[in-house]
Amino acid sequence: MTTEVGFIGLGNMGRPMATNVLKAGFPLTVHDVVKEAAQPLLEMGARWADTPKQVAQASRVVITSLPGPAEVEQVVLGKEGILAGARQGDLFIDMSTNRPATISRIAQIAKERGVEVLDAPVTGGVRGARRAALNILVGGDKATFERAKEVLAAMGSHLYHVGPVGTGNVAKLVNNIMALSNTLIAMEAMVLGVKGGLDPKQLFDIVDAGTGTSQVFKGVFPFVIFKGRFDPPSFRIDLAVKDLQLAMACGEELSAPLPLSRAALEAYQRAAARGLGSKDVAAAITLLEESAGVTVRVAE
Ligand code: NAD
Repeated sequence: MTTEVGFIGLGNMGRPMATNVLKAGFPLTVHDVVKEAAQPLLEMGARWADTPKQVAQASRVVITSLPGPAEVEQVVLGKEGILAGARQGDLFIDMSTNRPATISRIAQIAKERGVEVLDAPVTGGVRGARRAALNILVGGDKATFERAKEVLAAMGSHLYHVGPVGTGNVAKLVNNIMALSNTLIAMEAMVLGVKGGLDPKQLFDIVDAGTGTSQVFKGVFPFVIFKGRFDPPSFRIDLAVKDLQLAMACGEELSAPLPLSRAALEAYQRAAARGLGSKDVAAAITLLEESAGVTVRVAE
């Protein structure tokens, strides 16, 4: 592989994703506001750049995995941003969960400079990122998608081209509305069960064998909630709030009602207001546990 790739945002998702790009043989330049986040990649042979502009100067394809719209705007459009260093014909792929309207606007500005843009948010979580098994939901020109396939395939096992720029994030928000609301309703129900005197492990098995189960239920209860391991987070409560706020904005733009998603947003906002923003999304159960006076834990 000879295409020079740049990767900006080396957090829970970005670090394993960038690692897989490097392992696939792409020469890689990396950047993050927290330099230590890059250390494992630098030890594997990636090069460091001090600014997004310098990443772009060193790369023909630049990828971002950043918290949200504000960070992506700054990293792309800022004085030391990607567009300040990109050349005509370069490709920018935003893999953050972003606001569709924001990435569409960025794509318009980039196009005027001859830079192609894809939005390519992902599902599959940190586990999927580590195993290069992400589902990647791509919005943008079909020809640009074809061009990006090789590098995207280094990070994901399923690549979906869903429509023009911005639609990758619409697909992602649909997924996250379901995943994040589903997580909350499962928490609410399990707290009820434990308050009703049931054993949480047996209750898990019953629901898992029944119609109430889901991927988030299987993931979040045995590995996180039963063990009370909310830190370090796999997916932060702050990001859940951000995603549901993006969903609300998207719903308003498209005139699609989202009453239950709003209730879920408010629940995660309450958890963030209680100081749990940097904890795993599963920590939202602690508010429900407090109200009910029980905990949903299983002794190791
Ligand atoms: P994270 O907070 O762990 O990582 C974000 C990284 O971006 C951090 O290392 C941070 O230092 C860096 N950063 C922030 N502002 C920056 C800037 N201005 N310039 C350079 N670097 C900057 O978040 P994450 O969990 O890795 O999520 C990244 C994106 O992927 C988010 O948009 C999130 O919604 C999405 N996502 C996360 C998951 C998950 O399970 N964690 C799953 C799918 C999608």
